[in-house]
Amino acid sequence: MHFNILTIFPEMFPGTLSGGVVGRALDKKIWTYDVINIRDFATNNYGSVDDEQFGGGVGMVMMPEVLGAAIDSIKNPGKIIYFSPRGRTLNQKMVREFVNEPDDQVYTLLCGRYEGIDQRVIEEYNITELSIGDYILSGGEIAAQVFIDSAVRLLDNVLGGGDEATQNESFEIGGLEWPLYTRPSVWRGHKVPEVLLSGHHGNIERWRKQQSDEITKERRPDLIKEN
Ligand code: SAH
Repeated sequence: MHFNILTIFPEMFPGTLSGGVVGRALDKKIWTYDVINIRDFATNNYGSVDDEQFGGGVGMVMMPEVLGAAIDSIKNPGKIIYFSPRGRTLNQKMVREFVNEPDDQVYTLLCGRYEGIDQRVIEEYNITELSIGDYILSGGEIAAQVFIDSAVRLLDNVLGGGDEATQNESFEIGGLEWPLYTRPSVWRGHKVPEVLLSGHHGNIERWRKQQSDEITKERRPDLIKEN
């Protein structure tokens, strides 16, 4: 999987993606990326990438000539995604769909800044808008890292434990995960639930399912309706 990342802050990459299983996958070239500095495509001597909004109001907008030139510089842009609160909200099902697309293993990720980008860029390149949640970030770089992390960990040979490791997770199991415990079996007087020490796989599975159902019903009833 390859990502072209368009940003005015190239030093922010790989950022959080350099650590853990995703960082190891980067070392192994299971995924690769190029960072394109949008500012390199500025058309004036000041390196401006933004200008005032037509119609007035506070806040600047990223200019179409600059963004267009930056996108055109990419040999194989693949599917172009612009991170924006106005996009569809990313969820695990969508991440799986992106990962499973047979010929679309190249993504160009456009990180907005200021108030966002000129609408005509979205139309010209038929860009998909994606949000990572109902809150406002100061830029799309964190959103791009969220997208890459969530996609890369689903690629083959990234997680130890294979398919089971990615399938036994919240959202993948049709709800939220059950509570997790490790050694010691008693910690500060708190005991691990007896059933988990029993070695009885059927009972353990039933207990986990029941815990998962309860916690999902309490915290995220919307997930139950979906299934
Ligand atoms: N004026 C915009 C917000 C701009 S925030 C609006 O009201 O919708 C600046 C940039 O941060 C955006 O261009 C986008 O790339 C990024 N961003 C902010 N919040 C985001 C979110 N929830 N999901 C994805 N990207 C986001």
